[in-house]
Parts: sequence; structure tokens; C-alpha cells
Amino acid sequence: MTRKNFIGGEWVEGSEAVPDVNPSNLADVVGEYARAGVAQAEQAIAAARDAFPAWAEAGIQKRFDALDFVGSELLARRDELGRLLSREEGKTLREGIAEVVRAGQIFKFFAGEALRIGGERLPSVRPGVEVEILREPIGVVGLITPWNFPIAIPAWKVAPALAFGNTVVLKPAEATPACAWAMAEILSRAGLPAGVFNLVVGKGSVVGDALVRSPHVAGVSFTGSAATGEQILRKLAERRARAQLEMGGKNPLVVLDDADLEVAVRCAIQGAFHSTGQRCTASSRLVVTEGIHDRFVAALASAMTALRVGDALDPATDLGPVIDRAQLEQDLRYVDLGKRCGRLVAGGEPLKRATEGHYLAPALFADTTNDMAINREEIFGPVATVIRARGDDEALGIANDTELGLSAGVCTTSLARASRFKRDLQSGMVMVNLPTAGVDPHVPFGGRKGSSYGPREQGTYAREFYTAVKTAYTAP
Ligand code: ADP
Repeated sequence: MTRKNFIGGEWVEGSEAVPDVNPSNLADVVGEYARAGVAQAEQAIAAARDAFPAWAEAGIQKRFDALDFVGSELLARRDELGRLLSREEGKTLREGIAEVVRAGQIFKFFAGEALRIGGERLPSVRPGVEVEILREPIGVVGLITPWNFPIAIPAWKVAPALAFGNTVVLKPAEATPACAWAMAEILSRAGLPAGVFNLVVGKGSVVGDALVRSPHVAGVSFTGSAATGEQILRKLAERRARAQLEMGGKNPLVVLDDADLEVAVRCAIQGAFHSTGQRCTASSRLVVTEGIHDRFVAALASAMTALRVGDALDPATDLGPVIDRAQLEQDLRYVDLGKRCGRLVAGGEPLKRATEGHYLAPALFADTTNDMAINREEIFGPVATVIRARGDDEALGIANDTELGLSAGVCTTSLARASRFKRDLQSGMVMVNLPTAGVDPHVPFGGRKGSSYGPREQGTYAREFYTAVKTAYTAP
């Protein structure tokens, strides 16, 4: 059975059907998904446009009820959908289930946000006049999502969009349609009027581009690569549409001389290698000061030998496979590059397992410098480098010497050092004695420099993108 697109309240065949393959076992097809073309993307935009005025007026209770329904069902089906996620994306079952729980929590949070839209009432400088600051939905939003968080990222864009009264066209990543489809199926039963939520599975350059170009799409929220984000931004700017872009990271984890070695190693393992390193918040640069450098590299290499790479659905697995062949090839290219400019401490080789899949041993390079390509470009795989620093000042300088600025971490037992790094690291998120990856759902998520553009996602800050401010003056 081919799973279809959801347009204007109907399940609609695509122009072709594409298999969704399990990266842990290439012989296992998760399902067949209909691919939409430009015409269907335009139909979805038209349906969302038609549905907008009534949805904007439908009232906050309806929005709360729909989002709360989706949140409850995601939470109730965490095991089943977590398994689907791991089978489709390749992160471990534990991570897959946790991500579904996160998606459920996000829907619950934004159900509440629908009730808390509020506004402000202020005195005017003119006696007898009232001033109010009100928030209104912006219209049709196009949501373009990546494969690495195939249910959490769709959730953290769809839920606030609907909570604030917008209508939605969601285009998930080509590699992971199953999770987005499962979420769409729940949304199709959530009591939303036809056209309020639409799903179009398809190519970025076709369906994604149609959303970006359409004059009827008021804003696009995108998560993906920096190169695609850049292209999208230009097109959105040309037609003055709203843009919210979350792009790459080259996140430093700074380990200072006085760090607790065990904590630092745990942060590095978690941040660099969990989810197979396929996170925009992954710790890809480990900046380590001289006094702890050798002990840290030895302890990390030893901890890496305990990581079991295998089938994502095997409960014993610590690291699942890489998402697909193209990504594996990219990772291996960086491993080759690393071997030529640094010292390979561990891993980096493709692995064979009982089933054919994209398995890669997590790789660690030492003796690298920050100007090397492996330290400047986002790899998006289980590959980390160590950069030696002579002291705190140099470590901070190296950490900040990057065009990206999503997340950054520091491991230290000194409160004074922690405060300094918290203040001076140039990134949207700073972690002290914690991995650079792993964030809460109720607080803002986003970066600085080339990592992000536009208002923050998540938490109460999400309203900045999904609402338009109106200032109303009244002389009663
Ligand atoms: P990744 O390397 O994570 O696949 P991409 O930026 O290529 O990063 O993809 C992220 C999302 O953007 C996917 O849903 C993809 O289909 C979409 N996309 C890719 N190219 C374009 C484009 N030109 N216009 C709009 N969306 C695109």
C-alpha cells in the first residue's frame, strides 16, 4: 500500500511512489510513499489558503483540543512510533522512543500556548486613547524539515504554526517520510477543518522550492543544510516573505584543565557520537587544554571502544547506522581528509554487520588545527576532532573561530571559568558540563552567525515567527 499525501483533508496519490529503506538493513522497506510534484504542492498551498480565514477565527479552544489530541496520541504510541523512527532513520530505539515522547510533549506545550496568546494593553501618550499590542496569525506557512529528527522537528514547527492560528503545508525530508506521515495521519483525525494541515512528500528542489516561491506562503520555516538555507533565504527575501532558518553547526566542546575527566568524556561521547553524530548540535570540535589533553584523548578513545555499532532496533546497540549511502560517502571523505592532516586515534572504518547497512565506526582525530577543512566544514556524522589549546584564552579563541554558532560547551569545575565561557562563547546555546546536543522543549532553540536566521524556535519564543504584531489605538 502506498501512503499518500494529505491535501485539503483528502489522501491524494502522488506522481510516483518511492520506497523508504531501513538504513540498518537495506533489504527492509519501511513503506512506499507517494511523491508529490509542483502541481500538488500548489494544490496544498491553495487548500491551506482557503482554510486560513476560518481557522484564524476558529478560537483557541479548538486549537488547544486538536494539538492536545495529537500530543496524547504520540505519547500513547511512543513505543510503536519510536520503533518506526529508528527503523526509518537509524538512531537507536531508545533515542527513537525519546524523540516521539519529545514530539508529544511539544504538541502538549503548544496546546497550552494556544490559550496563552495574550497581548498587551498600555496607556497612550494621548489622554483618553487606549493602545493594545495584539498578535495575529501570519497565514499559510511552509515547513521544510530534515531527516535527522524526523518527528521532533516537524512537531516543533507544525504545533506552534497551528497553535497561533496559521495553516500549514509540511514538506518532510525525502529520506524519512514515514514519521511525518504517521504524524499527519494523527493530525487528520484531530478535528482540524480540511486544509488547515497538509502534507506533501517530495523533493526539496521541487516541492520545497514551490513553497519557497509561492506568493501565497507568508513564511517558511526550514531546518537543513547551510547551502540550501542560503538559497531559500534569497528567494524569500526577494518576495519579502518571513524566513526562519536553522542550519548547520560546527560546535565546540571545550575541555579545560580542571574538568572532571569522567564528565568531559561522557559529554564528548554523547555530544559527538550519539544519534550517529547526525545532529546539528553535535560536538564536532573538542578543544582541549594542554594539562588534560593526553589524559582526555586516552580516556575518550577507551570509552569509544565500548560503543556498539549495530542495527538500530537491537537494544544492545549504542550507535545505529548512517542515514544513507551519500552521507556515508561524505563521512568517509572527511575521514580520509582527517588521516592526511591529523592523527586517527580510533574508528573511521565502514563496518559489516549481519544485515547490509550503512555502518561506520565512530572516528576520533587528534593533533588537528582549527584551520583544517575537517574543523571548518560540517561533517554530519560520527567523526570528531581534538584541537589542543595552550590555555583558556586560546581555547576560547579557537571555539569562537568558526562561521557557525549553534551550540557550544565547556567542561570545568571552576565557577569563574564556567561563567566566563558562558558569557564569551559566541553561540545560541551554551552548555556547562553537559553535551552540546540535547535541549529542552520549552525554551528557545537556535544559533548565531551562519547557523540560524530569523526568530528562535520553540518555547514561548516560537510566537515571534508564527504571529504578526498589530498595534491598535482606540478612542472609546
Ligand atoms: P540535508 O543535508 O539535511 O538533506 P538539505 O538542506 O538538503 O539538508 O535538506 C533539508 C530539507 O530541505 C529537506 O526537506 C529537503 O528536501 C529540502 N530542500 C532541499 N533543497 C531544497 C530547495 N532548493 N528548496 C527548498 N527545500 C529544499
